[in-house]
Order: sequence, then structure tokens, then C-alpha cells
Amino acid sequence: MEIDPISSTQMGTPTSQKDAKALQFIEEMTRNADSVQQNVLAQLLTRNAETEYLKGFSLDGAKDRETFKSKVPIVTYEDLQPLIQRIANGDRSPILSSHSISEFLTSSGTSAGERKLMPTIKEELDRRQLLYSLLMPVMNLYVKGLDKGKALYFLFTKSETRTPGGLVARPVLTSYYKSDHFKTRPYDPYNVYTSPNEAILCPDSFQSMYTQMLCGLYEREQVLRVGAVFASGLLRAIRFLQLNWQQLTHDIRTGSLNPKVTDVSIRECMARILRPDPDLADFIARECQKDDWERIITRIWPNTKYLEVIVTGAMAQYIPTLDYYSGGLPKACTMYASSECYFGLNLNPMCNPSEVSYTIMPNMAYFEFLPHEPNSPGLGVSVQPVDLANVEIGKEYELVITTYAGLYRYRVGDILRVTGFHNSAPQFQFIRRKNVLLSIDTDKTDEAELQTAIENASQLLRKFNTSVVEYTSYADTKTIPGRYVIYWELLAKDSANSASNEVLDQCCLAMEESLNSVYRQCRVSDNSIGPLEIRVVKNGTFEELMDYAISRGASINQYKVPRCVSFTPIMELLDSRVVSTHFSPSLPHWVPERRR
Ligand code: AMP
Repeated sequence: MEIDPISSTQMGTPTSQKDAKALQFIEEMTRNADSVQQNVLAQLLTRNAETEYLKGFSLDGAKDRETFKSKVPIVTYEDLQPLIQRIANGDRSPILSSHSISEFLTSSGTSAGERKLMPTIKEELDRRQLLYSLLMPVMNLYVKGLDKGKALYFLFTKSETRTPGGLVARPVLTSYYKSDHFKTRPYDPYNVYTSPNEAILCPDSFQSMYTQMLCGLYEREQVLRVGAVFASGLLRAIRFLQLNWQQLTHDIRTGSLNPKVTDVSIRECMARILRPDPDLADFIARECQKDDWERIITRIWPNTKYLEVIVTGAMAQYIPTLDYYSGGLPKACTMYASSECYFGLNLNPMCNPSEVSYTIMPNMAYFEFLPHEPNSPGLGVSVQPVDLANVEIGKEYELVITTYAGLYRYRVGDILRVTGFHNSAPQFQFIRRKNVLLSIDTDKTDEAELQTAIENASQLLRKFNTSVVEYTSYADTKTIPGRYVIYWELLAKDSANSASNEVLDQCCLAMEESLNSVYRQCRVSDNSIGPLEIRVVKNGTFEELMDYAISRGASINQYKVPRCVSFTPIMELLDSRVVSTHFSPSLPHWVPERRR
């Protein structure tokens, strides 16, 4: 088979026919980005022409970009919500898509405090699978011999619910792991996981993690790469090992399984894997007993060549901790995806995290890009989106997608900067998600949500004649799990009757109760966020903060209290003025959402 220049000149030589075919596909798609996009749009407009949504814009059979753009508006989730709700309630008519909606994917983005529901269709699984199938062929160009060992990936499924109309609602990865695409995947020497399917598919996060860790420990010498979807997930696994190594080594020593793992299919599967191995148990116990956990990943899994975790965007905050535990192993961010649509992949996965650029694959959906001025708060109405092939290097854009599943000109909310092109397909650095102030795991809290949480919590201070005069926040990721830290400056008008520590602890909980359901699920079900902390600072601290900002050149007229901080001198100033600290005394309320 002919090997394309992508492989020989830019990325090395593919290791197999299968890889060469995948690389060839990337080449074809990226060389013809514009025409692929035109075809994608024509195809999805043709097939969805009779949907209620598109009929409403009188496209009259037009399939071209100009008509599409002039007639169909750019929308947000909130605009589509009434239609999505009708589908959730059981309306099977072709509202958004001519193909029947197979399920809802629950995004980590929220609307009115609840997860967004993204309708999807069966064939989208094939599209996602296609993108996955491109990742290893690219990786094999950079790292040799990955077929000689295994991947220790911590993969999890989460709980699912049903909408009133009977459709399943679950996260996109849960949908993928439960699909036959994943469960009955053909053997591929480049994609052998240490985690058995039974462990990945167990919805109980403790049992799933315990089993995956145990299997990873048994196969420590075979492990060539260690990963999780996001950096926070991998660090959670390290923390889990810290907390559970004694029981894990007991199991390895005796060849028995922790009785807390009760899932029948896991127990059956582990009965085939478990064997007493006292030497291995001694080794792991010796390493875990040490006070110093620096480089623990490479000590336990000595053949690890790289970590596979997303550390772009909000996850960049975890890079120093990952480096500490791995001795600075390369961190491969392989793909960029969402519940709405999988977007693209990193063609240079071993690059430094700060240089990661994702190449959007033009076959995945129809993409448009709204020019985004970094320093201007809103978009002028007149700003026109540009096509994939027409974005300009160095500029920032907000991603807008039109998908086969029936989202049309939908604002994803991600801000991307163009760093270059691969053939005629642009490559993007992920800059940030719009309006996200705080994020520890998959949670995303915006300024309005934080403000509401502060307002609700400060109700508890009313009877003490106390109010919150200023606040700011910080995502503390130095501990695992990380947590939200909120700095409060209080005004107590009645010093004889000030709020007690218990009341301030309750304020922490009241804030958590007000935060969105993704935050609360991370706290309660996934244990991926720790108790929220309030740090009360001395009166006058926020004025000092303003003085500091002005001394660094901020305009006194335009100064606004930053609602989230991370700059070290500011943190030091705030922390040096703390008079008391308070933590949530219990978990907030969370149950799997019932979709009304
Ligand atoms: P969800 O729909 O819950 O899967 O979240 C999708 C969002 O996660 C995207 O819109 C991005 O904001 C973020 N995301 C996904 N992949 C990446 C990545 N590789 N780097 C940075 N952020 C990402």
C-alpha cells in the first residue's frame, strides 16, 4: 500500500497496513478539508430536510452553506431545550433528526443547574469509533513497541437514568463502554488493557477502581502506558492506591479478593486472574510504605513510556502533580471531544502539553468558527462565523457545530486558537471553556452559579446581622481530590452576636447544595471533589487586593474584584489575611437526575 507523506516526512513510518490505512484516511480528510465539510453539510441537510426544525427555516431543499447560514440561526442549548424536552418526553416525530434518537448523552455542561441532554443517534457510535481508531496509528509513529505490553487505563461507567419517554440518559463514555463497539472489540495488540471489561462496566466506583488497580498491580511489568480520560481521574487513582494499598497487597499476597468487591461478574472474572504472589505484594508494600511518593508511577510500573491523560484546558492545573508522581513522564493528550460530537485528534501526541494542538477532523460534523476577541466581553451581532478551512493562524474562535444527530449551528462554548494547519485542516489550541470560573474534575461552575451559591449561603448569616461584603474563589488542586476554596470578607454589625464556626461550616454546605448537579455528583458519587472550604479574611483584605492590582497597572475606574484567583502573590496576600477556615461538614444532596 502506498504510504502517504504524512507518515514518512512528518511523523515517521507506520508500523502496519492497518496503521497506514488510518494515516492515509487522516491525510485524505485533512487535504480536502473544505470539500469534505461541504459534503458533510449537504449530506446532513439532505437527510434531515424533513425535520420539524429545518422545515421551520424554509431551506426548500437547499444544501449549500450560504443558504444554510443565511436561514438557520446560531443557537445555544437553551434555545433548543424545549425541543429536546419534547424528545425526552417521548415525542418520536422527526424533530431534530430524521434518524430516531437512540439515547441522550448527559453533558458535563449544565443548564439551570442540571446536566444538558444531548440527543444522539446510533450511527454516531461509528463516528466516535472511527476517531478512536485513528489514535494508536498516530501514537505508533512516535512510540515504538506498544504492542509488546498493556495499557493501564482507569475507565469508568457512571449511573444512567431514563427520560419520561423511556430513552436512556448517560454520559458519552458510559454509552461507549457499554456498546458492542467497546465490549466486543476485536483483539488489537496495540490496545490491550489491564482492566477487564467487568471492572470498567461496574457502576460502583469503589469496586471498579479497586479491581482496575489490582489488575494493574498484578501486571506491573507489562504496563507500557498509564492513563485516564482526564488528569484528575489519574490522580484519583494514585490517591486510591495511597488509601488502599494495604488491602490490595493483602489480596495479592493471598490470591483472594477484598470482600467489599461484591459485584458478581467482577468476582467471577477475578477468580481467573487472582493468584498468591507474596513477592509482588512485598514489593508494592515496600514502595507504598515510603513517606515519599515521588515517582510512584514509574516505581510501580517501571516500563511506563508515557501517561495518557488530557491536561489541556482546565486540566492543566494538574501537570505539576502528575510530573511529581511520574518523574516528568510525557503526557499525551490524544483527542478533543464532547458529548455533542467528537471533534478531532492530536497529530503530535508526545509534544509538551503547552504545545498541544488538535486537528479537527472534517468528517465528524460541519464546523463553523465565531471570531472571538479575547478582551471583548460579548460578540457583536455583526460578527460572522468562518468555515473550517478559512480560519486564520493566531486568531481565537468559538466553536459552532452542526451534527448528524440534529444540532444545527450550535455553540459548544469552547474557545480555540488556531496554531497552524495540517494540510488544509486547521489545528487548534484549546484555550478555555466560556464562562467557566471553577473546575476540579468534570464540574464547571460559572460566575452566576458561584454568585447564587454565595447568596444562598449568606442567608444563614442574616440572623447574625452579618453579610458577605466581598468574595473570590480558588480551585485548590494541591490536595487529592481537589476542592473549591472561597474567600469571604464579612461585615458583622453586631459583634456580640457573631456567626459561630458551626454556622460558617453550614455556609460551606449551603454553597455546595446550591452548586450544579455535576458538582454534587462529583462530590457524592465520584468522590472526585473534596469538601468546599470557606476562608474568612480580615476586614480590608479586598481593598488591599485592589491596591495590589492597581499597583500592577489596573485602572482604578475599571477595577473589578476577580471572582476566581490563581496568581501566587494574590493567593499569598489572601492567605496571610485568613482569620478562620471552615469546611462542609457533610455531603450535599445528590441523586441521579430524574429527567422531568
Ligand atoms: P462533555 O460534553 O461533558 O464531554 O464535555 C466536553 C467539553 O470538555 C468540551 O467541550 C471541552 O470544553 C472539554 N474538553 C474535551 N476534550 C478536551 C481536551 N482535549 N482539552 C481540553 N478540554 C477538553
